[in-house]
Amino acid sequence: MKRRRIQTAIVADARRGLEFVVGTLNSPQGSELRQIVKLWQASGPSTLELFVENPTLNRELQAAWRPLLLPTKSGNANINFVGGWGAKEMVAGLGEAGLRHQAVVLFNALIVNPLWGKLAGPCPRCQNYYIKKRESQKVYCSRRCGNAATAEARTREVLEKDRLTKLRMSVEEIQNWTISRTKEDWKPWVAKRVTKRMLKELLRAGTRKLPAEKRASITSKFLTRAVGKGKIIPPTKGSGWRPAAR
Ligand SMILES: [Zn+2]
Repeated sequence: MKRRRIQTAIVADARRGLEFVVGTLNSPQGSELRQIVKLWQASGPSTLELFVENPTLNRELQAAWRPLLLPTKSGNANINFVGGWGAKEMVAGLGEAGLRHQAVVLFNALIVNPLWGKLAGPCPRCQNYYIKKRESQKVYCSRRCGNAATAEARTREVLEKDRLTKLRMSVEEIQNWTISRTKEDWKPWVAKRVTKRMLKELLRAGTRKLPAEKRASITSKFLTRAVGKGKIIPPTKGSGWRPAAR
Protein backbone atom coordinates (compact mmCIF):
# COMPACT_ATOMS: atom_id res chain seq x y z
CA MET A 1 0.00 0.00 0.00
CA LYS A 2 2.64 2.46 1.09
CA ARG A 3 4.92 1.42 -1.75
CA ARG A 4 2.24 2.08 -4.35
CA ARG A 5 1.71 5.57 -3.03
CA ILE A 6 5.40 6.36 -3.29
CA GLN A 7 5.54 5.12 -6.88
CA THR A 8 2.56 7.28 -7.76
CA ALA A 9 4.23 10.24 -6.12
CA ILE A 10 7.39 9.82 -8.21
CA VAL A 11 5.44 9.70 -11.48
CA ALA A 12 3.35 12.65 -10.38
CA ASP A 13 6.52 14.60 -9.59
CA ALA A 14 7.98 13.90 -13.03
CA ARG A 15 4.73 15.07 -14.55
CA ARG A 16 4.62 18.19 -12.38
CA GLY A 17 8.26 18.82 -13.16
CA LEU A 18 7.56 18.65 -16.88
CA GLU A 19 4.52 20.90 -16.49
CA PHE A 20 6.70 23.43 -14.74
CA VAL A 21 9.23 23.36 -17.59
CA VAL A 22 6.43 23.82 -20.14
CA GLY A 23 4.97 26.68 -18.11
CA THR A 24 8.34 28.46 -18.11
CA LEU A 25 8.89 27.76 -21.82
CA ASN A 26 5.57 29.44 -22.60
CA SER A 27 6.15 32.45 -20.36
CA PRO A 28 7.70 35.77 -21.41
CA GLN A 29 10.64 34.98 -19.07
CA GLY A 30 11.31 31.72 -20.90
CA SER A 31 13.45 33.01 -23.77
CA GLU A 32 16.75 31.62 -22.40
CA LEU A 33 15.20 28.21 -21.77
CA ARG A 34 13.52 28.25 -25.21
CA GLN A 35 16.90 28.91 -26.78
CA ILE A 36 18.51 25.94 -24.96
CA VAL A 37 15.56 23.64 -25.72
CA LYS A 38 15.79 24.56 -29.42
CA LEU A 39 19.47 23.55 -29.44
CA TRP A 40 18.57 20.32 -27.65
CA GLN A 41 15.77 19.49 -30.11
CA ALA A 42 18.06 20.26 -33.05
CA SER A 43 20.63 17.82 -31.65
CA GLY A 44 18.25 14.92 -32.24
CA PRO A 45 17.59 15.25 -29.37
CA SER A 46 20.85 13.69 -28.23
CA THR A 47 22.38 15.09 -25.07
CA LEU A 48 25.71 13.60 -26.15
CA GLU A 49 25.69 15.58 -29.34
CA LEU A 50 24.38 18.69 -27.56
CA PHE A 51 27.18 18.61 -24.98
CA VAL A 52 29.90 17.93 -27.55
CA GLU A 53 28.67 20.58 -29.99
CA ASN A 54 28.15 23.25 -27.32
CA PRO A 55 31.09 23.17 -24.92
CA THR A 56 30.15 26.46 -23.25
CA LEU A 57 26.63 25.25 -22.57
CA ASN A 58 28.08 21.96 -21.34
CA ARG A 59 30.20 23.84 -18.78
CA GLU A 60 27.20 25.91 -17.69
CA LEU A 61 25.05 22.79 -17.25
CA GLN A 62 27.73 20.91 -15.29
CA ALA A 63 28.36 23.90 -13.00
CA ALA A 64 24.66 24.31 -12.27
CA TRP A 65 24.13 20.62 -11.57
CA ARG A 66 23.52 20.67 -7.82
CA PRO A 67 20.67 18.38 -6.90
CA LEU A 68 19.62 18.41 -3.26
CA LEU A 69 18.53 15.49 -1.17
CA LEU A 70 14.92 15.77 -0.14
CA PRO A 71 14.29 13.58 2.92
CA THR A 72 10.92 11.93 3.37
CA LYS A 73 9.21 10.29 6.35
CA SER A 74 10.03 6.88 4.86
CA GLY A 75 13.38 5.24 4.29
CA ASN A 76 13.60 6.75 0.84
CA ALA A 77 14.89 10.22 0.00
CA ASN A 78 13.82 12.14 -3.07
CA ILE A 79 16.00 14.31 -5.25
CA ASN A 80 15.29 17.98 -5.74
CA PHE A 81 16.74 18.83 -9.13
CA VAL A 82 16.04 22.54 -8.93
CA GLY A 83 17.64 22.95 -5.49
CA GLY A 84 20.26 25.28 -6.93
CA TRP A 85 17.58 27.40 -8.57
CA GLY A 86 17.90 30.30 -6.13
CA ALA A 87 15.34 32.44 -4.36
CA LYS A 88 13.11 34.49 -6.63
CA GLU A 89 14.23 37.84 -5.25
CA MET A 90 17.89 36.93 -5.48
CA VAL A 91 17.59 35.71 -9.08
CA ALA A 92 15.60 38.81 -10.05
CA GLY A 93 18.41 40.91 -8.58
CA LEU A 94 20.90 39.17 -10.85
CA GLY A 95 18.97 40.28 -13.94
CA GLU A 96 19.88 38.50 -17.16
CA ALA A 97 22.50 36.32 -15.50
CA GLY A 98 19.85 35.16 -13.03
CA LEU A 99 17.41 34.25 -15.80
CA ARG A 100 20.16 32.36 -17.60
CA HIS A 101 21.04 30.47 -14.42
CA GLN A 102 17.42 29.47 -13.88
CA ALA A 103 17.12 28.34 -17.49
CA VAL A 104 20.22 26.18 -17.15
CA VAL A 105 19.01 24.61 -13.87
CA LEU A 106 15.58 23.97 -15.34
CA PHE A 107 17.05 22.45 -18.47
CA ASN A 108 19.09 20.06 -16.31
CA ALA A 109 15.85 19.07 -14.56
CA LEU A 110 14.24 18.49 -17.97
CA ILE A 111 16.91 16.17 -19.34
CA VAL A 112 16.91 13.96 -16.25
CA ASN A 113 13.10 13.87 -16.19
CA PRO A 114 11.93 10.39 -17.28
CA LEU A 115 9.09 12.05 -19.21
CA TRP A 116 11.41 14.27 -21.32
CA GLY A 117 10.19 12.55 -24.52
CA LYS A 118 6.70 13.93 -23.96
CA LEU A 119 7.86 17.52 -24.37
CA ALA A 120 6.95 18.87 -27.78
CA GLY A 121 6.61 22.16 -29.55
CA PRO A 122 6.52 24.91 -30.37
CA CYS A 123 3.09 24.37 -31.94
CA PRO A 124 3.25 25.95 -35.41
CA ARG A 125 -0.06 27.68 -34.81
CA CYS A 126 0.05 29.05 -31.24
CA GLN A 127 3.84 28.79 -30.69
CA ASN A 128 3.33 27.06 -27.34
CA TYR A 129 5.32 24.12 -26.04
CA TYR A 130 3.17 21.27 -24.79
CA ILE A 131 3.11 17.80 -23.28
CA LYS A 132 2.20 15.16 -25.86
CA LYS A 133 -0.96 13.28 -25.05
CA ARG A 134 -0.28 10.49 -27.55
CA GLU A 135 2.88 9.28 -29.25
CA SER A 136 1.23 9.99 -32.60
CA GLN A 137 0.83 13.65 -31.71
CA LYS A 138 3.55 15.26 -33.77
CA VAL A 139 2.69 18.76 -34.85
CA TYR A 140 -0.05 20.72 -33.11
CA CYS A 141 -0.51 21.20 -29.36
CA SER A 142 -4.21 20.39 -29.46
CA ARG A 143 -7.01 19.26 -31.69
CA ARG A 144 -8.20 22.85 -31.55
CA CYS A 145 -4.97 24.18 -33.09
CA GLY A 146 -4.87 21.32 -35.60
CA ASN A 147 -8.42 21.94 -36.79
CA ALA A 148 -7.90 25.68 -36.92
CA ALA A 149 -4.71 25.25 -38.95
CA THR A 150 -6.51 22.98 -41.42
CA ALA A 151 -9.32 25.53 -41.72
CA GLU A 152 -6.81 28.34 -42.26
CA ALA A 153 -5.01 26.38 -44.97
CA ARG A 154 -8.34 25.69 -46.64
CA THR A 155 -9.24 29.38 -46.48
CA ARG A 156 -5.92 30.35 -48.05
CA GLU A 157 -6.55 27.84 -50.83
CA VAL A 158 -10.04 29.23 -51.48
CA LEU A 159 -8.78 32.82 -51.52
CA GLU A 160 -5.98 31.91 -53.92
CA LYS A 161 -8.45 30.22 -56.25
CA ASP A 162 -10.69 33.29 -56.02
CA ARG A 163 -7.76 35.51 -56.90
CA LEU A 164 -7.06 33.52 -60.06
CA THR A 165 -10.73 33.60 -61.06
CA LYS A 166 -10.78 37.37 -60.52
CA LEU A 167 -7.70 37.78 -62.69
CA ARG A 168 -9.24 35.71 -65.46
CA MET A 169 -12.50 37.67 -65.28
CA SER A 170 -10.60 40.97 -65.17
CA VAL A 171 -8.83 40.15 -68.42
CA GLU A 172 -12.19 39.32 -70.03
CA GLU A 173 -13.82 42.50 -68.74
CA ILE A 174 -10.90 44.65 -69.84
CA GLN A 175 -11.54 43.37 -73.35
CA ASN A 176 -15.19 44.34 -72.95
CA TRP A 177 -14.16 47.78 -71.71
CA THR A 178 -12.03 48.44 -74.80
CA ILE A 179 -15.05 47.93 -77.06
CA SER A 180 -17.65 49.52 -74.76
CA ARG A 181 -18.86 53.10 -75.07
CA THR A 182 -18.29 53.94 -71.44
CA LYS A 183 -16.41 57.10 -70.47
CA GLU A 184 -15.51 55.59 -67.12
CA ASP A 185 -11.89 54.75 -66.36
CA TRP A 186 -11.17 51.05 -66.95
CA LYS A 187 -10.34 50.13 -63.35
CA PRO A 188 -13.62 50.98 -61.56
CA TRP A 189 -15.58 49.77 -64.60
CA VAL A 190 -13.81 46.39 -64.65
CA ALA A 191 -13.87 46.07 -60.84
CA LYS A 192 -17.64 46.53 -60.72
CA ARG A 193 -18.29 44.00 -63.49
CA VAL A 194 -15.95 41.39 -62.06
CA THR A 195 -17.40 41.73 -58.55
CA LYS A 196 -20.91 41.31 -59.91
CA ARG A 197 -20.02 38.24 -61.99
CA MET A 198 -18.02 36.66 -59.22
CA LEU A 199 -20.82 37.19 -56.69
CA LYS A 200 -23.31 35.57 -59.03
CA GLU A 201 -21.02 32.59 -59.52
CA LEU A 202 -20.33 32.18 -55.81
CA LEU A 203 -23.99 32.41 -54.83
CA ARG A 204 -24.81 29.74 -57.37
CA ALA A 205 -22.03 27.40 -56.20
CA GLY A 206 -22.59 28.20 -52.53
CA THR A 207 -19.89 29.39 -50.17
CA ARG A 208 -19.43 28.23 -46.63
CA LYS A 209 -18.04 30.29 -43.75
CA LEU A 210 -16.60 33.10 -45.87
CA PRO A 211 -19.25 35.61 -46.96
CA ALA A 212 -19.71 35.60 -50.74
CA GLU A 213 -19.69 39.44 -50.85
CA LYS A 214 -16.25 39.53 -49.31
CA ARG A 215 -14.91 36.83 -51.60
CA ALA A 216 -16.34 38.43 -54.71
CA SER A 217 -15.33 42.01 -54.19
CA ILE A 218 -12.44 43.46 -56.14
CA THR A 219 -11.35 47.08 -56.17
CA SER A 220 -9.30 49.27 -58.47
CA LYS A 221 -6.43 48.51 -56.11
CA PHE A 222 -6.59 44.81 -57.02
CA LEU A 223 -6.19 45.79 -60.67
CA THR A 224 -3.39 48.24 -59.91
CA ARG A 225 -1.55 45.48 -58.07
CA ALA A 226 -2.13 43.01 -60.89
CA VAL A 227 -0.68 45.53 -63.35
CA GLY A 228 2.28 46.10 -61.02
CA LYS A 229 2.97 42.38 -60.91
CA GLY A 230 2.69 42.09 -64.68
CA LYS A 231 -0.41 39.87 -64.52
CA ILE A 232 -2.45 42.39 -66.50
CA ILE A 233 -1.43 44.82 -69.21
CA PRO A 234 -3.29 48.12 -68.73
CA PRO A 235 -5.59 48.81 -71.72
CA THR A 236 -6.11 51.94 -73.77
CA LYS A 237 -9.22 52.37 -75.82
CA GLY A 238 -8.97 51.47 -79.46
CA SER A 239 -5.23 50.81 -79.41
CA GLY A 240 -5.28 47.13 -80.22
CA TRP A 241 -4.86 46.01 -76.60
CA ARG A 242 -3.99 42.36 -76.10
CA PRO A 243 -5.04 40.27 -73.09
CA ALA A 244 -2.81 39.42 -70.16
CA ALA A 245 0.91 38.95 -70.01
CA ARG A 246 0.44 35.72 -68.08
ZN1 LIG B 1 -1.24 25.23 -30.58
